[in-house]
Amino acid sequence: MEKILEVKELKTSFKTHIGDVKAVRGVTFHVNKGEALGIVGESGCGKSVTMMSIMKLLAENAKIDCKEILFNGEDISKYSEKQMEEIRGEKMGMIFQDPMTSLNPLYTIGEQLIEHYMKHKKASKKEAWEKGIEMLGLVGIPSPEKRMKQYPHEFSGGMRQRAMIAISLMCEPELLIADEPTTALDVTIQAQILDLMKSLKSKLNTAIILITHDLGVVADLCSRINVMYGGVIVETGSAEDIFYRGKHPYTWGLLKSVPDPMKKEKEKLIPIDGQPPDLLKPPVGCPFADRCDYTMKICMENLPPLFDLEDGHKSRCWLCHKNAPKVDRALNELEKVGGR
Ligand code: SF4
Repeated sequence: MEKILEVKELKTSFKTHIGDVKAVRGVTFHVNKGEALGIVGESGCGKSVTMMSIMKLLAENAKIDCKEILFNGEDISKYSEKQMEEIRGEKMGMIFQDPMTSLNPLYTIGEQLIEHYMKHKKASKKEAWEKGIEMLGLVGIPSPEKRMKQYPHEFSGGMRQRAMIAISLMCEPELLIADEPTTALDVTIQAQILDLMKSLKSKLNTAIILITHDLGVVADLCSRINVMYGGVIVETGSAEDIFYRGKHPYTWGLLKSVPDPMKKEKEKLIPIDGQPPDLLKPPVGCPFADRCDYTMKICMENLPPLFDLEDGHKSRCWLCHKNAPKVDRALNELEKVGGR
């Protein structure tokens, strides 16, 4: 499959008055053309910083270091701000959690829709306005002609998020990065927005990176999933690998905290005890060691590599080493949470 994005050995840290926060500590992954990749993990695990580093949208105290970031085969890691501006909005679209902070309250939805389109596509105002009406219709906003002339405060939360999606898709980007796009919405609207992203993906063949803390959100949309913890990818694989054959204790913890829609009776969800590691002084060993039920001596001393399992399924856990002593116990645990 052809890759639209390839990120190699990305490290991002933030300079603060108490030291450097190592938010992303060597992340390598790719996204194929037209596919949806989920990046899942608790807040502070480095998932949003990874994407903001790729887009070069971080504050001045950020330091990004990487081998390469290939977008359509071209290394964009060395691009100037001007070159990045040309890519952002046109070839890479973005949707954020809170549309109110991304939409400008002083401009109508129509004005915000046509701005980037006119700039990137060198289109006339009339052409851009027509395209805007078409996009609002495509994302399911009724009476798009009328809605074009309204301001963000005249839209409901779900409609604002739809408008944001329309804005980010105006130039028909090849890659759409959606950072917690449904977190601020109620469950029904959340399902509608995810359905919408799914249908747009198949209509426009847009590749999507969906960033979320909620494994349940990625289940329906994403064919592959990266699970992040403590600034590194701890497990990666197909959605089936992660949901049915997960091999990392952190993934099991995430699965236990997601309600199973197939279960009729009320399910007891189990949160993961403990706190994520302090990334000012990241542990030398496994970042999950303090919260893991299977911690061994080696876990405290050495960061596990991403062990290759099969067909692109990888897990950064010493239990996947061929000589791991506690693997049977771990597999029993997997059976307990598996079979969803
Ligand atoms: Fe747990 Fe060790 Fe695996 Fe880390 S490497 S998840 S501490 S068993």
